[in-house]
Amino acid sequence: MRYISTRDNNRTASSAEAIAQGLSEDGGLFVPETFPRLPEGAVHELCAMNYRQRAVYVMKLFLEDYSVAELTDFVTRAYSPKGFDTPGIAPVRKLDENTHFLELWHGPTCAFKDMALQILPHLLTAALRKNGEDRSVCILVATSGDTGKAALEGFADVDRTKICVFYPRDGVSDIQKLQMTSQAGSNVLVCAVNGNFDDAQTTVKEIFSDPDMRWELAGRGWMLSSANSINWGRLLPQIVYYISAYCDLLNAQEIRPGQEVNFCVPTGNFGDILAGFYARKMGLPVKKLICASNSNNVLTDFIRTGTYDRLRPFYTTVSPSMDILVSSNLERLLYDLSGGNDAETAEYMARLAGEGRYTVSEAIKAAMDGLFAADFCDDTETRDVIAKTFREHGYLMDTHTAVACGVLEKYRRETGDGACAVVVSTASPYKFCPAVLEALGDAAEGSAPALMERLEAVSGVPAPAPLKALSGKTPRFTDSFDKAQLPDVVRRFLK
Ligand SMILES: *Cc1c(COP(=O)(O)O)cnc(C)c1O
Repeated sequence: MRYISTRDNNRTASSAEAIAQGLSEDGGLFVPETFPRLPEGAVHELCAMNYRQRAVYVMKLFLEDYSVAELTDFVTRAYSPKGFDTPGIAPVRKLDENTHFLELWHGPTCAFKDMALQILPHLLTAALRKNGEDRSVCILVATSGDTGKAALEGFADVDRTKICVFYPRDGVSDIQKLQMTSQAGSNVLVCAVNGNFDDAQTTVKEIFSDPDMRWELAGRGWMLSSANSINWGRLLPQIVYYISAYCDLLNAQEIRPGQEVNFCVPTGNFGDILAGFYARKMGLPVKKLICASNSNNVLTDFIRTGTYDRLRPFYTTVSPSMDILVSSNLERLLYDLSGGNDAETAEYMARLAGEGRYTVSEAIKAAMDGLFAADFCDDTETRDVIAKTFREHGYLMDTHTAVACGVLEKYRRETGDGACAVVVSTASPYKFCPAVLEALGDAAEGSAPALMERLEAVSGVPAPAPLKALSGKTPRFTDSFDKAQLPDVVRRFLK
């Protein structure tokens, strides 16, 4: 199976090339030329497998140039009992008769980014070998908090790689910051950027698409790649957990074979929910994909009106991993819903870059209406959901998951659609202690470790071991930079 750029159908790549490059050289994103369907009886077969086996099965459908033996080796290392604190890897927890949580935060950094970033380094270094690439690769990451740590954890001390992470100086939680700045490894660099996530992401994209920079670094034996969800190797492992969740619901007899399920997804860069869209495209019985945003509700407006408009105030919220106004992966959806129209997709993206807004065709809008619903929760609503769910069910969730939970409630009220729903739970509540404590009506002042202990006392839910281990750590990386300095930071790092 070949991969093609969303902005130029003539630009194709093998799966190994797409994963090694991250972004197509024309600025487009790689997508599979055709989508595999789940074969007849596949879901039944997958039900009998564990998470690792399901991952091999699903990924193999997309990765012709990787063998089953290789993929088995990768998933064994990525989803190991050492890294994940539950044998289910991505367990489904029941809240009430028709509401479930898909918990994606049992990995080493306690956020759902681990699901992809634990396996991406294996896919990527294998891709370099397959391509006969003799350069080493430097991973550049712009992060709104969780990607950075998950990528650092995945790539630290991996042969033939370096990793450089940029995070918005005031846009991440204390725990997220300490997780990143205390990262061990001889091949890592972590920098604060004076700006917000979009500033960091835009600059990283500019570095990628600067031919002079590529040339200069190539001369020194380096190529750049991305661990952001624009990389196909990031997106693919995320398709697995939608299918796995469906199998778990079947196994628990919560649904009948073929029954349609709604997924409600806390959304930022549109990677997670896009993986759900792809799972549906493969034939998984998904009814609606409900796109949940915080006050940065650019996607709510887009899905409801067909106009994407990033020219709006930017809010710093209690769900910082969703504080995003430019959702990169939306490009893949537009490409798909336009019927694979590269020129049309490129045109929307050019408008977004130039005027800051675009309106999609009637055809795309109609297709979106059938598949997606969208709403948002502000910080007050988010806190209320955390408090109410803990009070009524004893279930503690983080702020991002709470946004989705609140949006699902609104969706059900507005549409009367009471179908079985899965809320995608994207982070441990312990990553966002101040906001979660505040929601529970408790004091939110104090050091990160103190707040973690406080939340344990208040909730009776133990904190994950990797977060508890942070208490003794000191930051290794303390510098912050302006946007314009970032290219030179990268050059110095790759001297
Ligand atoms: C990254 C992240 C999201 C948003 O996921 P996207 O794939 O960027 O849409 C939501 N919640 C948490 C906790 C995250 O880390």
